[in-house]
Amino acid sequence: MKKILFVLCLVFGIMFAVEAGADSSMVSVGMESGASYARFSGENGLDIYDAVYGNLLYHAAPGENVDIYSYDGGFTSEGKFDAPISMLSVISVELAPISWNSEPYRGYFRLDRDGGTFTVVNFIHMDNYLYSVLGEEMGDYFPLEALKAQAICAKNFALCAHGRHSGYDVCATTHCQVYGGVNSESPNIKAAVDAVSGQAAHYAGDLVQLYFFATSGGATEDVSNVWGSVSPYLVSVPDPYEPADRASRYTWSTVLTSWEIQSKLADKGIYIGEITNVTVDEVTPAGRALTLTITGTEGSHTVRRESCRTILGLSSQWFTVNPYYDEAGTLCFAIDGRGYGHGVGMSQWGAYGMAMQGFSYVDILVHYFPGISIY
Ligand SMILES: [Zn+2]
Repeated sequence: MKKILFVLCLVFGIMFAVEAGADSSMVSVGMESGASYARFSGENGLDIYDAVYGNLLYHAAPGENVDIYSYDGGFTSEGKFDAPISMLSVISVELAPISWNSEPYRGYFRLDRDGGTFTVVNFIHMDNYLYSVLGEEMGDYFPLEALKAQAICAKNFALCAHGRHSGYDVCATTHCQVYGGVNSESPNIKAAVDAVSGQAAHYAGDLVQLYFFATSGGATEDVSNVWGSVSPYLVSVPDPYEPADRASRYTWSTVLTSWEIQSKLADKGIYIGEITNVTVDEVTPAGRALTLTITGTEGSHTVRRESCRTILGLSSQWFTVNPYYDEAGTLCFAIDGRGYGHGVGMSQWGAYGMAMQGFSYVDILVHYFPGISIY
C-alpha cells in the first residue's frame, strides 16, 4: 500500500516523504524547457521512475552519472533504460540533494516530454525553495527580522503564482524568482525561512501578492499610481526608516542630453523630432511623477504612471527635471530623484531600518501592507 501511495504521489507531483522541519506545501520550479539532454547524479544514489505508471526504471549507485536523452516517443539512457513514456521522475536516495547538470538541488526532478524535447521541473518543499530564492532577493547580511519579512514576500509570491506558467508553478529566472538550488543557500537565510515556516500573508482571509523594491526615498507609492490597479493593502505609506547613508539610491542624479532622450524614444518606436523639453505635469500625493510630457520639434509624447520612469530608464518614478544648456550649447536635462525601484509595497532598505530599530517582521509587513495578517 505504501508503495502504491508513493507512486501515486509521484504522478501527482507530491513527494510522499517529508523532510524534517519543512513546510508541507510544495513548489514546482521549471528549470529548463526544450531540453534534449540532462545529467543527474546523487550522493547516495538515484532512483529513476516512470512517472506515468510508477515503475522503477533504473537504480544508480552513489555518484553514478545518469545521462538522459529524449527522442520523439520516449527517454533513453545509453543502455541503462529505454522508456517509451512521457514523464520520468528522478528521486534521490535518502533525500540527499540531486546533482542536475553538475549543480546540487533539493527535492526531486520530473522530466515532462513534449515531442522530442522535455521540460525539467524541480519539485521542492516551500521552505527549501525559499532557502535558495531569498538570498537572490536580499543580502544575507540584512537583519533577521528583515529577512523574515522578505521570506514571507517570496513565499506569498510562490503561493500566488499558479497560472503564470503551464506545467509548473514558477520559473527559476527573474520572470518569477531567481532560484539556484543548494549553492545559493546561507545560514542566515535558512534561519529566517525556518522562523516563519508555515506562515503567510493574508488580507480579508485571502493569500495576497506582496510586492517589494529596494528603496522608496521617503514614502511608498499607491499601486494605482504605478500599475493602474487598485488594492486596499498596496497604498502609499510614509517610510522614515530607510538609512539614507546606506540605502541604494536613496537620492540619485543623472543628466540626459536632448539627443539621448530622442534615442531612448526611438528605441521604443516614438519619433517626435529633436527634443526641446521634458516636464512633469502631475505628481502623486507622495511626490512621484504621475504624468510626464516630452516635447519635440515634430510633436509631443505624454506618458503616465510607471512609464514616467521606464520611458527614460530612470531608477525610480520620483524625480524632477531641469533643462539647461551645457558649455558646448547642447540642451541637457538634469534629473534629480529619490529611491530605487517601483515603489509599491515593502521597501527592503526600510525593512532593514525597521529591523535595526527593533521592529519585528510582522511590524514591518503590516507597516508596508496596511491591513494584512500573518498566519
Ligand atoms: Zn516565470
